[in-house]
Amino acid sequence: MFFEKVALIGAGLIGASFGLALKEARRCGSVVGSGRSAANLEAARAAGAIDAIAGDAAVAARGADLVLVAAPVAQFEKIFLAIAPQLKPDCLVMDAGSTKRDVVAAARRAFGARLAQFVPAHPVAGAERSGAGAASAALFRQKRVVLTPLAENAPATLDKAAAAWGACGARVSRMTPEEHDEVFAAVSHLPHLLAYALVHDLSARANAAQLFGYAAGGFRDFTRIASSHPEMWRDICTANADRLLQELARFGAQLDKIGKILRAADAQALEKLFSDAREARERWLNGEFE
Ligand code: NAD
Repeated sequence: MFFEKVALIGAGLIGASFGLALKEARRCGSVVGSGRSAANLEAARAAGAIDAIAGDAAVAARGADLVLVAAPVAQFEKIFLAIAPQLKPDCLVMDAGSTKRDVVAAARRAFGARLAQFVPAHPVAGAERSGAGAASAALFRQKRVVLTPLAENAPATLDKAAAAWGACGARVSRMTPEEHDEVFAAVSHLPHLLAYALVHDLSARANAAQLFGYAAGGFRDFTRIASSHPEMWRDICTANADRLLQELARFGAQLDKIGKILRAADAQALEKLFSDAREARERWLNGEFE
């Protein structure tokens, strides 16, 4: 598997890391990037993630063998519409979006006869940092990538998509878009929302300076992901709002349960809950669910 020309639409943390990883694996010829920020594209070029900058997404996709769309998810439909007429018949198109039902719906509206060339993908790797300056060839190594195949995708197209991520060191698996959005609402979107909510609440208090002055390691760990890109998370939470609201309701019920335990001063029940949670986390850390 070798992609002569790769186009990155959005060459930030994820796009530029993909370019670096494919280059390191020697699976591509040239990489062209297009995006919204000239400074970021220059940073991607300086980092060696892209070789050239295209004026827009359509120009970048023209003649490409592989296109990765790695902008915030609300931008996807516009990008899909722009690149669709430019695609070579054997060009593989993937996205890197963190939500999937909305992305698949946008692809169905935009790609027309080119739909079978599009394989929805979510690299479950990332960071609270953004932009090409934070990119790394190692970002996807040993990380999961979830493909949510379309019925229209040919097996060979899916194999090519899996091989591209495999070349970046990732472990590829498959889900339906519905399953994907349900799972990631619970383990990714809700935690981000909670981190933002806690920091936002504390920062709005009259004694915020005092609170932050004494915040330490636990607060830093819990809130790390509140440093994530606000536009990206706006789009993710908006796109997956229904599933996220379900998770919020569940979490609210869990807080109610803990509130009852505290009101009843039931130390035993509290310790049991904490022990169960700690044990579950240890099992996760030990790789039991890999
Ligand atoms: P990022 O902010 O580092 O990069 C996004 C890039 O897209 C920016 O350089 C921006 O200029 C560009 N862009 C914005 N609008 C555009 C448009 N209309 N056309 C072309 N380019 C445009 O963000 P990222 O972390 O690389 O995220 C990119 C995608 O990957 C998002 O869809 C996100 O949901 C997904 N993702 C992110 C993570 C993560 O942890 N950061 C993990 C998995 C998936």
